[in-house]
Amino acid sequence: PQPVVAVVGRPNVGKSTLVNRIIGRRQAVVEDVPGVTRDRVPYDAQWNGRRFTVVDTGGWEPDARDRAAAIAAQAEIAVQTADVVVFVVDATIGATDMDEKAVRMLRRSAKPVILVANKADNQAVELEATSLWSLGLGEPHPISALHGRGSGDLLDAILAAM
Ligand code: GDP
Ligand code: MG
Repeated sequence: PQPVVAVVGRPNVGKSTLVNRIIGRRQAVVEDVPGVTRDRVPYDAQWNGRRFTVVDTGGWEPDARDRAAAIAAQAEIAVQTADVVVFVVDATIGATDMDEKAVRMLRRSAKPVILVANKADNQAVELEATSLWSLGLGEPHPISALHGRGSGDLLDAILAAM
């Protein structure tokens, strides 16, 4: 079986856009409005001749009685069944309380985590992304999933972590 890479993070940070960038097609559903419930969706991907599965996650259940629990449950299953976790943060917003909570869960999982600072569409945001070192997940990888900036370096890092 090929390695599994789970893409997790808050709603609207650009997880599905990143998945589309990784698989090279627009197949994962990108939403302007957060709050759309989706399952964990696996896609075949390859980079430098290595095949892997990349899993897009929704992780948002707006009508759940316990919203936080629903988010955590979705993300945790994806994380636990992955070989490598890609944790996406919105670099234009920075780390939020929900990001901090996710980091605690990621730590407990003991999986290799790659921290992605998405929406770094320009150098100014890219520089701000260095503040994400504070999350304690190592080096932030600034990318623009929308425009492709930094995605090659990110894929190299993902492969190195497999
Ligand atoms: P998800 O909820 O985490 O899956 O986020 P989506 O992939 O659906 O994207 C949410 C919104 O952010 C959409 O409007 C995307 O076009 C936008 N977006 C995603 N990546 C980027 C990026 O790198 N730069 C900018 N400026 N917008 C982005
Ligand atoms: Mg999505």
